[in-house]
Amino acid sequence: MKYVGSDRTITLSYENHQTAEDYAGAMSSPLCLKGTFKVVKTVTKYKVHEDSINYNQFLSNQQNWKRNGGYQCTTITGKSLFVPSDELSGNCVIVEGYVNGQKYQIGLHHMENVYVQVGDVIQDEKVLGTQGNTGLVLSGKALTDRTYGTHVHVEVKDANGNYINPRPFASGEMVLSLEEDAQSKEDLQEPPKSDKEKETIEGILLFTCPLDDTYFLKLQKGEKLYLVKPTS
Ligand SMILES: [Zn+2]
Repeated sequence: MKYVGSDRTITLSYENHQTAEDYAGAMSSPLCLKGTFKVVKTVTKYKVHEDSINYNQFLSNQQNWKRNGGYQCTTITGKSLFVPSDELSGNCVIVEGYVNGQKYQIGLHHMENVYVQVGDVIQDEKVLGTQGNTGLVLSGKALTDRTYGTHVHVEVKDANGNYINPRPFASGEMVLSLEEDAQSKEDLQEPPKSDKEKETIEGILLFTCPLDDTYFLKLQKGEKLYLVKPTS
């Protein structure tokens, strides 16, 4: 099954993960989502790990490994690895879009590379980055498995900030579009502007005041200036 653009399998379901779903595939495989949407956040500063942390070992040592600023872990190959709290979800891309007028945010975490920037509008399943193992990546895999637990942690939040099941977005069943799509349809239905509104201007007006100095009247975006003819 194709999830987040490539052949991946669900390794931790939303029912068990509760705030997200994990999809495992090949390290460095491309990540994309269907639809048109905006990039609202990226984190790119973390490096991939040489190996990951055994899931069961983490659970049994979680309290011992916990430090003020993160987790002092032992990796699958026995190395010491400190993962600071702010690094837990690793490199990520968070995008925002709409389905049926409802806003959603989708986050892809533990990424290796990030190819997009905040403010980018993404479409045509452009590759957002690659799957990696940055952050705290737990693995139930054997030492000999060189994938080292690489996976994509996918989180989806609705407009109220509540986590929802990411699977329809990961599989491409739900497709994001831009808010502007809905907005432009509304604009078309807007009644024609009155003559009074047409006379309003936006910008900078230069005028000379009686004190013989030049002043600028500056209008902020959205502010209106009405020009009125003297009535007498
Ligand atoms: Zn996860």
